[in-house]
Amino acid sequence: MTAIDAQNPDPRIIGASWLISGDSSDGNLSTADFSVHSDTAILVRNGSIAAVDTFAALCQEFPQIHAQFLEGHVLLPGLINCHGHAAMSLLRGYADDLPLQNWLQEQIWPAEAQWLSADFVHCGGELAIAEMLLSGTTTFSDMYFYPETIAQLAESIGIRAQITFPVMEMPNVWAEDAQQAIDKGLALHDQYRYSDYVNIGFGPHAPYTVSDKSFERITMLAEEVDAPIQLHLHETTVEIEQSINAFGKTPLQRLHQLGVLSPRTQLVHVTQLNDQDRLTLAQTNASVVHCPNSNLKLASGYCDIAALQQAGICVALGTDSAASNNTLDMFDTLRNAALLAKHHSGNAQQIPAHNALYMATLGGAKTLGIDHLTGSLSLGKSADIVSVDLNNPAMQPVYNPLSQLVYTQAGSAVRNVWIAGKQKVADGKLMGLNLNNTLRSARQWQHRIAGNHPATHTDTLSHNQASSIELS
Ligand SMILES: [Zn+2]
Repeated sequence: MTAIDAQNPDPRIIGASWLISGDSSDGNLSTADFSVHSDTAILVRNGSIAAVDTFAALCQEFPQIHAQFLEGHVLLPGLINCHGHAAMSLLRGYADDLPLQNWLQEQIWPAEAQWLSADFVHCGGELAIAEMLLSGTTTFSDMYFYPETIAQLAESIGIRAQITFPVMEMPNVWAEDAQQAIDKGLALHDQYRYSDYVNIGFGPHAPYTVSDKSFERITMLAEEVDAPIQLHLHETTVEIEQSINAFGKTPLQRLHQLGVLSPRTQLVHVTQLNDQDRLTLAQTNASVVHCPNSNLKLASGYCDIAALQQAGICVALGTDSAASNNTLDMFDTLRNAALLAKHHSGNAQQIPAHNALYMATLGGAKTLGIDHLTGSLSLGKSADIVSVDLNNPAMQPVYNPLSQLVYTQAGSAVRNVWIAGKQKVADGKLMGLNLNNTLRSARQWQHRIAGNHPATHTDTLSHNQASSIELS
């Protein structure tokens, strides 16, 4: 048996003091099972969940199968981060405490113009994936330049990913215009058509960077190749006002009239909606990805997730990038989604713990169109499992493990992560990725970028000058 086989016996039995399945036959919050089962175990066979029963019962039935019991741990479905820009982890802490437009135009875009490359995306992507795995994320969605680099990384590491290739009219490091971005993206979609881990989708950046013509083309092609569409929408009041000035309608109305909204459409941020907007989203079955930390940090606006859910709209959660959050820990995001909803409504009962966990698991899987595959610990689904160790002072005593997962800092207590039955984190240590090398590369990038940071250099480069620099 090789070292890798020893790490990944299949079949295997994984048991723990508690298990929360999040199981739902119809994929809905109202029917999902968030009850806590004690001394329960999962039989993993061929990377899938073959049985769920008490640990004693499974060990008795399958005495020959490798079994482990995690005392004081809770098993739950792997978390799903439905929106981010992984490579931007290299810009974590680069520019804080600024409103969105200043943050983007004066800090982030110039830095990207100067530093972006496939190597930047590889290093930042590796850093992000390491952080996500260590905090219990087993599926992530990404929208960034050089999508082929992050797709290849996800595939080789074995983390589930939806990679949406960026489409915008203006030239950028990856594509000259929207047309070329779509062509390159379609080729990438073809390349990963049969991947077990990676699904390629369209990432029209936002209504203010993509023309009507491109939106129509994307809608038609997405239908044709059966791919998801993810875009930023209604992030700020400024975006909505500018759209009304330019098009005589809100971005949401514009997209609806262009036919972009459908079950394959994932809308990120979605602040400032009225009842009619919610009706439109419900009728078209588009999903919403709420990024509470990013919205809070950039003071962008509030996404009323309770009202969206009441209208029957599927809501998932995302971290957004580490440059606007600044953490990719989904436990932190789901906690803040619950707290923010309570604060905003003045109602402590709004978004209870199980609802927050649902949005980060099955709600995320539904949004990405992969709820048949992952999102709950259900028979036949992929063994995407996380164990959180509650044996620490910040999580004791344990009256309710679900409450502990949502309202404490559970991300730092993640101890084991399996994706398709393969162990990615074992006893808090990353498997199959050399974390020291990843951290060393990140620090090298930090030194390069910091050397040219406006805060440390007064002779900042113009946008054009910066674009012409070649990386070593
Ligand atoms: Zn974003």
